[in-house]
Amino acid sequence: MVLVYSDNKKLAFELLSKAAEISKETKNEVIAAIIGKNDETYAKELVSYGADKVYIAENESETTKAEEYCEILENIITETKSEIILIGSNKNGKEIASRLAGKLNAGCVIDATDVSLDAGKVTVKRVVYSGNAISVQQFQTTPAIITVPSKVFDPIDADSSRKGKIEKKAISPKKSTSTITNISEKVTGDVNVEEAEIIVSCGRGFKDKSDIKLADELATALKGKTVGCSRPIAADLKWLPEDHWIGLSGHKVKPKLYVAAGISGQIQHIAGMRDSSVVVAINKDADALIFNSADYGIVGDLYSVLPKLTKAIKEKMG
Ligand code: FAD
Repeated sequence: MVLVYSDNKKLAFELLSKAAEISKETKNEVIAAIIGKNDETYAKELVSYGADKVYIAENESETTKAEEYCEILENIITETKSEIILIGSNKNGKEIASRLAGKLNAGCVIDATDVSLDAGKVTVKRVVYSGNAISVQQFQTTPAIITVPSKVFDPIDADSSRKGKIEKKAISPKKSTSTITNISEKVTGDVNVEEAEIIVSCGRGFKDKSDIKLADELATALKGKTVGCSRPIAADLKWLPEDHWIGLSGHKVKPKLYVAAGISGQIQHIAGMRDSSVVVAINKDADALIFNSADYGIVGDLYSVLPKLTKAIKEKMG
């Protein structure tokens, strides 16, 4: 069996598509787990995205308590004899995965970019050395515990006519020894680069904070409205909030169109935008690394290229 768990719905749907693909090969079922609130609507959604069976384990702790969630998952894994455990790779998911691996004496791979079976053995790929190499790792034992970040797999189209079982599980884990004393929502701007379909990104090629309006105007003309940036713009110059920061230590994005203006294309930046469908690079240096990752390259000064592009797009799109 393949078991899928994530506290992020979208990510759970993405993991289900890979789980369904593997289960087709092994002729097993796809199991999904919901921990927390009894949410039958969500359970039905999980079925529509590929789960054959959904366990709902109600837990009074509304926020993730890794020890408790881990015990619940361990229970489900043992009962279902799940051999592959796919967990959404966010802060909670990584903590749960590593604890689970410790409890079950199992192998654990964090941030996989692919999962497959090779001669029956669970094989995963991970990006290593800041994106310079791909490590292929094979589990020698089961269960195989794997965390996968968002946007690695595409979800299947939801099919509300799919049939699956939904079962409530009464599991009472030992009370966590930790206490959450306060939760406060992080104040974020209105930008979500991870979900954006069109991103215009700025780098150190911009000379002044006020010039970012050039990227903004192009993004607006493209009906994308999302401006991204390289690390120096957010972390060093603080011209944009960190929500815009793309790369290895920033956000990982997967837009249909990524325009990189005045960005050199260091590997740490590429690590965050390499999955973009179409990349357009604008750089005055014809040898800039960014052109190696671009589908279209414009060698020129962004201060003359960006306004011309914006004008041309406005004319084209009306
Ligand atoms: P530069 O490298 O300074 O490039 C500026 C580019 O603009 C140059 O190519 C130049 O030719 C071009 N240019 C200048 N003027 C113009 C003009 N008028 N018109 C057109 N082009 C022009 N970086 C990230 O972006 N994201 C990360 O998540 C990230 N994580 C990191 C993690 C670690 C551990 C480390 C060590 C580094 C990380 N970095 C990250 C930093 C990364 O290595 C680079 O330093 C950074 O990406 C460079 O940003 P840049 O391309 O904007 O600036």
